[in-house]
Amino acid sequence: MAIRNIRTLGDEILTKHAKEVTQMTPKLKELIGDMFDTMYEANGCGLAAPQVGIRKRLVVIDCGDEPYVLINPEILETDGEQTGQEGCLSVPGKVGIVTRPNYAKVKALDENMNEYIIEGTELLARCLCHEIDHLNGIMYVDKVEGQLMDTEEENED
Ligand code: ZN
Repeated sequence: MAIRNIRTLGDEILTKHAKEVTQMTPKLKELIGDMFDTMYEANGCGLAAPQVGIRKRLVVIDCGDEPYVLINPEILETDGEQTGQEGCLSVPGKVGIVTRPNYAKVKALDENMNEYIIEGTELLARCLCHEIDHLNGIMYVDKVEGQLMDTEEENED
């Protein structure tokens, strides 16, 4: 397990379409562990592989209820709307207002390559949409309403 370097806005990899994962490998398992470590260390609730320089369709999420690994995630359904503040570990110290669906239903593979369905509302729905956007080279700053703002408080570490 290790903390990986998080790529920031302006890094070309963040604008690229990530590639499907075809099989689980020891290297990929290690990457998943590292992504959780990196996300928790940075006090984030989601991290996509391109953010640590890996062009694969892989996301980790933990919005406080339980940790999720999403491989090749696909949005099946969305509903409603929420407008609120959003940040990204690749845009440190900044937040912006983004409108997202208030509900999202996503199909993905877990770390054992078994298909499952994850449904989320509010923060989890926002996080699912934000992270899946990363796999398509889309950053929240492309969707922000108004200006980016500085975060009010710095992270503890
Ligand atoms: Zn992000």
